[in-house]
Amino acid sequence: MLTRGRLLLVCALMLVAPWTLVHAEEQTTDLFCPLIPNLEANGERANASVAWQVGLGPRLPGSNASASLLDGLETRHPAWSFTRDAHPYASTGLVNLVAIYPPDATLAEDRALGFGAHYDTRHVADREPEVANQSTPIPGANDGASGVAAVEELMHLIPSMNLDHAVVVVMFDAEDQGETPIIEGSRRWADNLSESERENLAGFVLLDMVGDASLDLANITSNHPLLNDVVQPMAQAMGLIEGQTGCDGTVNRDVYQPETRTWIGDDHMRINAVEVPAMVIIDHRYGPNATRLDDGYWHTLEDTPDKVSAESLETVARLVELGLRSGAWMNAVTIDEVPVNEPSPDDTEGVEEQARAFAGPLGLLLLGWAFVVGVTGLSVVSIVLLRKLRPPPAAATWSWDEA
Ligand SMILES: [Zn+2]
Repeated sequence: MLTRGRLLLVCALMLVAPWTLVHAEEQTTDLFCPLIPNLEANGERANASVAWQVGLGPRLPGSNASASLLDGLETRHPAWSFTRDAHPYASTGLVNLVAIYPPDATLAEDRALGFGAHYDTRHVADREPEVANQSTPIPGANDGASGVAAVEELMHLIPSMNLDHAVVVVMFDAEDQGETPIIEGSRRWADNLSESERENLAGFVLLDMVGDASLDLANITSNHPLLNDVVQPMAQAMGLIEGQTGCDGTVNRDVYQPETRTWIGDDHMRINAVEVPAMVIIDHRYGPNATRLDDGYWHTLEDTPDKVSAESLETVARLVELGLRSGAWMNAVTIDEVPVNEPSPDDTEGVEEQARAFAGPLGLLLLGWAFVVGVTGLSVVSIVLLRKLRPPPAAATWSWDEA
């Protein structure tokens, strides 16, 4: 049924939709394209981090391997200030490693963006086909080490970025333990943030399983939409969407698939649960032939460094780097907080000028409107039909509770 309200809305959309699309495209080009040739995240260095982490052995909570990993991260990033966030867990305890830049900043007092990954590795390879192998811990090259490695790339680069806000990095423990992954370290960290820390943490981007040599990034429906909506224009600018033109003019790689929508439970949910916008970038189809989470190398003994590539690590780290250097992550989560000002005298003048411009002869106005409707009508009908065939957008259905 087309109500009168909907008819008016469709008419309004016919008038503004083409302008909005063109305008968004221009903004994307202006904002992202000049930055892309200067992105610095280094895939070879990230790949070496994966090899280092896997070489320590399984990073189980309370293990010597985990202690060595945390010591190593502190040594490798001397520009950052570190604290260890320890909590009781099973018989071993769990430790999240929290880093902040600049080192004299605090989340209680300074506006910050958050980035993170889980560093623990699954204690059992419960997706192994052979029962005898199912109780062995996984190597965790992709599921664990890749996220830490990509976040390390940001930690290398952020001190030279001259950002106008602080950055908090959290390496979470105890994401992947228990019969089904318990996502415990991030829950402890998020639940213990003070009110001022929650308010200062503008948003949080989690990286998990980002090293798969055959990289496929889906559109994750458990992500907070304000952050999630930034991914597609950046991926397009970097030439990571099949059939779409990147900034360099070539139609490029099939990496980010905005039409493939998947719900993923991960550490970002614990941060969304305390009403800080959070999202995960994850390749849940691990392996060249994987079509879903559980038909590839995920939670098997095959999760080894040779399945991870420097190119994939670099792609994801640069995507996140682009959001930092452009301010896109921060802008996405601060837009709601921009006060709605009364129009200034200048603005009012502009509005009156526009009103005068539109107050030409009624016949001319109707003629112009009819022309616009004629040109755009066909495309709008197509969009409406396509939308009926697709699930509703995340922004329409997403709520803190469902995350
Ligand atoms: Zn896992």
